[in-house]
Amino acid sequence: MKKVNGHLNKIWKDILTEVEKSVDDIVFNTYFKDSDIYKITDNKKVLVEVGNNLQKMVFMEMIDLIVEKTAIVLEETYSVEIYNKDELETLLEAEQQDTNKFMTLPLNVDFKDNIQNQYTFDNFVVGDSNRESHSAALASALSPGHFYNPLFIFGNSGLGKTHLLHSIGNYAKKNKKDQKLLYITSNDFITKVVKSFKMNRIEEFKQDMYNLDILLVDDIQFLAGKDKSHEIFFYIFNELVNNKKQIVLTSDKHPTEIKGLEERLISRFYSGLSVGLDSPEFEVAKAILDKKLEQQMINPDNIDEDVLSYLATHFSKDVRKLEGALNRLIFYSINFADNDRITMEVATKAFHNHTNRERDTLSVDSIKDTVANYYGLTVKQIDSKNRTRIIVNARHISMYLIRKHLDISFSKIGEEIGGRDHSTVVSAYDKIQNLLKKESSYQVAINEIERKILNQ
Ligand code: ADP
Ligand code: MG
Repeated sequence: MKKVNGHLNKIWKDILTEVEKSVDDIVFNTYFKDSDIYKITDNKKVLVEVGNNLQKMVFMEMIDLIVEKTAIVLEETYSVEIYNKDELETLLEAEQQDTNKFMTLPLNVDFKDNIQNQYTFDNFVVGDSNRESHSAALASALSPGHFYNPLFIFGNSGLGKTHLLHSIGNYAKKNKKDQKLLYITSNDFITKVVKSFKMNRIEEFKQDMYNLDILLVDDIQFLAGKDKSHEIFFYIFNELVNNKKQIVLTSDKHPTEIKGLEERLISRFYSGLSVGLDSPEFEVAKAILDKKLEQQMINPDNIDEDVLSYLATHFSKDVRKLEGALNRLIFYSINFADNDRITMEVATKAFHNHTNRERDTLSVDSIKDTVANYYGLTVKQIDSKNRTRIIVNARHISMYLIRKHLDISFSKIGEEIGGRDHSTVVSAYDKIQNLLKKESSYQVAINEIERKILNQ
């Protein structure tokens, strides 16, 4: 495939020898050793081929160093471009079609739709927590641009936003062959915008985007504060929506709650439909477990019912964690358990040894829950404005423990506990800390609550 000749090889070898002098052995051996030169162009560019994206990222991080070393060997400054195998293949194809075209090749030589085929509507379990989002997503795939535009899907991490975006892509591709799609994270979008500006190709980039039928942008919240990308996104957004092309966006927050997004963009997001995703209810969590077992071709009959119920109860806040817990269990049973059946005993052992368990299951909700239970209250009462002494006390202890065990800002804690402000939480935290020093009854109570929190 490559048109590398002996001379080029020698040049690259010399460059690598130079690089080797400046980086750790382990870095050199892991990332540099099996890179290759593809060609040197007339306009002083060195095109380098690497095996995978990680390698490419490392090269990009060290691009200054590589340029410097290249200049030493070639005795002149050259710019260096890094391509992974796929990109190079696209490049080659394009070159073959038109040998002159190379220099003006679209920036995104890797123009792929990025849709991952393992995420489909077929393997997305639907329940009350995600019914609305699922149904809106399917509608946008079925008839892009015709229903809600944009469709905005929001929800906490691990609840299926990315899964839904890929499902839309897969469905739309199957449904109508000649559509142009793109799945992109907002971070990649930003990178591309920055790169296009650098290469003076922003118009080409916009044009590429205008040609899409469906644009799926994941985690749009990361666009916040990125002014240039905002601007470009705004143009692309308007152009696509005006032409009845479908846009689907996801975010961990409702559009109005993303700080650092421009008003005009928020109001555009708002003009379509916003749908939310929640944590799955127990039955859905169990159905998700069944789906995941099916995908891994594991017979669910080999797992005791109470084990699945245990997982569905303890890990359903976040489907990613639910999956992680199931994988851990399967891994454990294959490697350490004596027989093929996964029983509650196996599960207990699997999770007992899980050193990260504390971090995995601890959350604002689990702490509030435990404190409320301890005092015979409800979480609602903790969040409420009620000033009864015992409730105020439980509220303050919740704030204290959340701050102590989770890395969350005081203002965020305030938000999570009935929308209180930052200073209320700070003074609650100080109060409990002081009481703990003075009163042994507090020490006993809080010790006991902490024990419960950490043993969930
Ligand atoms: P998000 O993008 O919201 O953080 P993901 O879409 O990456 O979450 O989902 C995390 C994991 O949970 C993925 O492996 C996904 O397949 C799975 N998942 C989430 N919701 C469901 C569901 N309803 N049915 C099946 N799998 C799901
Ligand atoms: Mg995601």
